[in-house]
Parts: sequence; C-alpha cells; structure tokens
Amino acid sequence: MFLCTLASGSSGNCAVVSDGTHHFLIDAGISARRIQKGLAEIGLKKEDLSGIFITHTHTDHISGLSVFLKKSAIPVYTSKKTGETLIKQIPVPHNQIHTFQPDEPFDLFDWQIFPFSTWHDVPGSVGYRLTAGEASVAVVTDLGHVTKQVADGIEGAEMLLLEANYDLDMLRMGSYPAFLKRRIESNYGHLSNSDAARTAAWAFQNGTKTILLGHLSAENNRPECALKTVGEELDRFAGRICLEAVPRSTASRIYAAGESNVEYTSSLCGKTKRDVLCAGGPGISETAGFIL
Ligand SMILES: [Zn+2]
Ligand SMILES: [Zn+2]
Repeated sequence: MFLCTLASGSSGNCAVVSDGTHHFLIDAGISARRIQKGLAEIGLKKEDLSGIFITHTHTDHISGLSVFLKKSAIPVYTSKKTGETLIKQIPVPHNQIHTFQPDEPFDLFDWQIFPFSTWHDVPGSVGYRLTAGEASVAVVTDLGHVTKQVADGIEGAEMLLLEANYDLDMLRMGSYPAFLKRRIESNYGHLSNSDAARTAAWAFQNGTKTILLGHLSAENNRPECALKTVGEELDRFAGRICLEAVPRSTASRIYAAGESNVEYTSSLCGKTKRDVLCAGGPGISETAGFIL
C-alpha cells in the first residue's frame, strides 16, 4: 500500500491511498484542479479512483469535493451524519454518497475499511484505517484527544498519518483569539505535538513502522518542533521507525506500507522502488524528517 498527501493542514487536506489496483482519496479539501494535478504527478487520473473517503465537513476537508465530483460517478464514503450534511451542501446524486456507522468495519472491493469515531467539533467525524492484503494505513487528524476508538483504529497499522497540530507554548503565546485557543486545546479540537508524541509511542509499540505527522498549524507549529517532540518520545524505545512531517501545501513523497507484500511496478505512479522506500531506508526526502 502507498500513501501520498497532496496537502495537509488547515488550508486543505487530501491524501491518496493505493494498493496499486484500487486508489482512494481521503478528503478533498483543496481545489479540484490541485487534486487532478496532484494525481497526475503520481501517474493517476480522476477516473482511476475507486472512491473518496471523507473524514468530516470542515472546509479544509471538503472544499474541492463539489467541483471534483462534477460529471463523475466516483462514490463518496462517509459517516451517516457527515453524509446528511454533504447532501445538503453539494449538488451530487444522493446515491453517490454511501454512508456507514462509525466504528463498524466493512469490506470494499478486497479492502477492509475501519472508520473510527473522533472527537472533533463537527458531528460524524471519523478517522480511517484501510487494509489491503497484509498492509494497513491509518489516517487520523482533526481530533481533540485520543479515545479508545481511535486507539482501536490505529492499533497495528503499519503506517500512520497522525495529527500534530500545535506546540502548546506557541499556541498559548501566539496571536489567536482566546476563544480559538480554547477550541484548539479542547477535547474536541486538535492534537498537540505532545499528544502526538504519546500516540506515536503507543503506535510504535503496537507495530507501526512509519509515522507521518500532518495537519501542522502554520501559526502554532513548525515541522522541526513537531518532529523533535515526537522524536524524543520515540527515542525512549529501541527499534527503527520512519518519522517525517508531511508538507502543508505541497504533495509529500510516496510512502509505502507492507513493502514485503507489494510488488513494485511502474504501473503505480511510475515511481521506482527507491522513491518509495521508507522504513529502514537511509533516504530522507526534501521534507523535514529523520529516521530514528
Ligand atoms: Zn482540518
Ligand atoms: Zn476539522
């Protein structure tokens, strides 16, 4: 399985997850043009997509969805509550939106989908764990704290895209109005670097081999700061892990999970194996990061 983020942050979120046969988007919070450009850069077209998973209805996760879906029958998968909101907001046939009950896994093609509830200030928010064959990828951003459902969702996922939204000192000393600071810090807001560090350590102890920090605030965080906080926590444990922060407004490199089970061919994205090697590899991309 492969994951590539096209954008990750409060100005837009969109990720591509693929097993080389099926390709899915998670969220569509950048313009349709940028999504298509990002897909083209990894050798995919809109028509290649098997579906779009939506986490929640904040603008930075759905702003491009309506235009992207125009004249397209790509199915959209989301929680029941999110689906109800989407149907009111975007002109898309109702039968194109497929809803599910959070915390109840389901099969889609030969993938297993586990949408897990997240505490965030909009109803129906979820994170996703996607499993294809032996490999699995979990994506969890936009949550105030890590609940048991989230822990269940990410447990054992080989690759984890995890929110590290803010550094607590930067947030508290920063220029945001008090109500916004309270909202971000609340149980329904976002994860801090320290929250991410604890979660990353737990995930690492439960089998995660690649941790990608995402949804970093432009105002209240820096990639080096998030990586330092999470890296120091992971440093307490023996073993190797790939830890990187994905860029806010440009595409990340392509990360691979379940490498031993995936045959690399040029049919996926036209990238060589060297380009997608992550865990255990020596390479560091242009994004800030390090391998512990
Ligand atoms: Zn967001
Ligand atoms: Zn949100």
